[in-house]
Amino acid sequence: MENILEIKDLHVQYQTSEDTNYALNGIDLNIQKGETLGLVGETGAGKTTIALSILRLLQSGVGQIKSGDILFEGKSLLELNDTEIRKVRGDKISMIFQDPMSSLNPVLTVGDQIAEAIDLHRSLSKQELSDMVDSTLELVGIPKSRKNDYPHQFSGGMKQRVIIAIALSTNPELLIADEPTTALDVTIQAQVLHLMEELKQKLNMSMLMITHDLGIVAQICDHVAIIYAGKIIEYGTVYEIFDKSREHHPYTKGLFGSIPDLTVETRRLTPVKGLMADPADLPEGCYFHPRCDECMEICKNKVPDSCGMGGEHYVRCHLFKERQV
Ligand code: SF4
Repeated sequence: MENILEIKDLHVQYQTSEDTNYALNGIDLNIQKGETLGLVGETGAGKTTIALSILRLLQSGVGQIKSGDILFEGKSLLELNDTEIRKVRGDKISMIFQDPMSSLNPVLTVGDQIAEAIDLHRSLSKQELSDMVDSTLELVGIPKSRKNDYPHQFSGGMKQRVIIAIALSTNPELLIADEPTTALDVTIQAQVLHLMEELKQKLNMSMLMITHDLGIVAQICDHVAIIYAGKIIEYGTVYEIFDKSREHHPYTKGLFGSIPDLTVETRRLTPVKGLMADPADLPEGCYFHPRCDECMEICKNKVPDSCGMGGEHYVRCHLFKERQV
């Protein structure tokens, strides 16, 4: 299938007055047209940095793309000027940020907030804009009669629907959702996820779903990438990643609590012993080796390559060297 997004050997660093943080250390990742890719890993693994790099929203003067490329529909996003990248943001690629509830403006009606988002990217008459706000609200299951209400008049789940409406108002081709349901209770989470999945199909979008929640991964992702210390250490279809009969990266096994069954309700990642590698002081060799029960001598000084495990499944670990492709 054709790729909508290709990330090639991406290296990103954050520079502080004290040190350099190596946030992304050679990320290679593709998102196919129409699919949902789940990006899974602990806090600090580099998930949000990938999203911010795609949108070129790394904090100026602190976060810097050092090398690599990000292609959207075959064109480099890194070569676009400020006007061109602003057009891509929202128009082609939208993002739902972490803690979306706080991104609504409390003193503007939800209708005005959706109109503002559309107005940034489209030149419409007043009537056309108003009609588009109505249809966007209806798309996410909010009656248009509520467009003059303020955010505080909505429940958590309804506010999240407004956020999704804003993100989708310009009909993007790729939606990046960074932990979009974390702040919601489980029942509302399920409704919001169902809505996102439905809209993805309806609008023929691709989606990058950043999450800690294995229930979300199992429910809506087609492929899954596991990230550790700024490197993708395992990738496969959702079935391959959850397949207990396959071998997996030691980190994935720890994270998934020894690989749960797709049919069993397992919602959260299991904490892996030890702490995430310090991006300012990454270990030699495999970044996971200080936490790995299966560590061998070679792991302490050689970075493992990615090994093909059959099908679309890849693991970056010295244990599987003989299957290297
Ligand atoms: Fe563990 Fe070595 Fe594999 Fe790293 S390369 S995950 S240390 S076995």
